[in-house]
Amino acid sequence: AKREGRGRALMFEPRLDRQHEHRLAMEAALLRALREGLLHVHYQPQFDARTGTLRGAEALVRWDDPRLGAISPAEFIPLAEEMGVISDVALLVLRQAVALLRDPAIPRLSVNLSVMQLRRDGFLDQALSVLAEAGVPPARIEFEVTEGVLVDDTVAVKHRLDGLRAAGFALALDDFGTGFSALAYLRLFRFDRLKIDRSFIRDLGQEAEAAAVVSSVINLGHGLGLEVVAEGVEAPAQLAELRRLGCDLVQGYLTGPPMPPGALKLLAARAREA
Ligand code: C2E
Ligand code: CA
Ligand code: CA
Ligand code: CA
Repeated sequence: AKREGRGRALMFEPRLDRQHEHRLAMEAALLRALREGLLHVHYQPQFDARTGTLRGAEALVRWDDPRLGAISPAEFIPLAEEMGVISDVALLVLRQAVALLRDPAIPRLSVNLSVMQLRRDGFLDQALSVLAEAGVPPARIEFEVTEGVLVDDTVAVKHRLDGLRAAGFALALDDFGTGFSALAYLRLFRFDRLKIDRSFIRDLGQEAEAAAVVSSVINLGHGLGLEVVAEGVEAPAQLAELRRLGCDLVQGYLTGPPMPPGALKLLAARAREA
């Protein structure tokens, strides 16, 4: 048995080593990226579904590493959480978003919050001081949280979300429909907006069932006094259907991809003239 164990170790070690090396390299690269300011933010516009008015944009963090290339936030955000540096990422995103909000033509910016920020105290005060320095009112920032955030440590998380809302920040429930017991949480937590996950938008305009689900979510949101945002809108048929169903806001490649801050400023300026 001992020999077998050793044989196994010999077989699997090289692969584990490589994974481990990759992981260590990524951790080192992320720390360097944070230190050298290689993380930046793109903004994806959100429009009023009926009128086409610019209503705001979602801040999406980007990492273009000179050696590793572009790394997806879906990969490095979980890494940053595990490494305990997610607060540094979040504050960097918030600082850049707040700086951009000095432009009065941009109504509001949405910032994604990870569960780590809501598990401990301190984020609210940090966020408020970033805004106060720039003279930007909290109402122009919206924080997006996913259902997963609400599930664990519900009492503490509710306390912190209530604190953010009491301070004047807007709150959106992100990726709605992908988690569990979403309905129970909608009653317990107070949000301003509900974002329908893009997996539900995909088949819109093609399948009657997809329209039934999206329509129910829109009615649910409205019944709770929330605005409903559709994300991942890629096709004109999807937009037409969302309008017909009474969706409030749209976000997706069709109406505007994530873009650098300068491009969002131009878009906002043109929207003002029109
Ligand atoms: P998310 O919050 O659901 O963000 C929307 C994602 O959908 C973004 O991917 C965006 O680029 C993409 N997207 C936008 N329009 C379309 C479309 O029409 N079709 C399709 N197929 N995709 C579209 P991205 O930028 O790669 O971000 C991935 C995830 O990483 C985000 O999902 C969010 O969970 C996380 N993330 C991004 N930035 C931050 C951040 O600053 N902080 C935290 N905690 N998480 C972030
Ligand atoms: Ca989001
Ligand atoms: Ca989302
Ligand atoms: Ca998502």
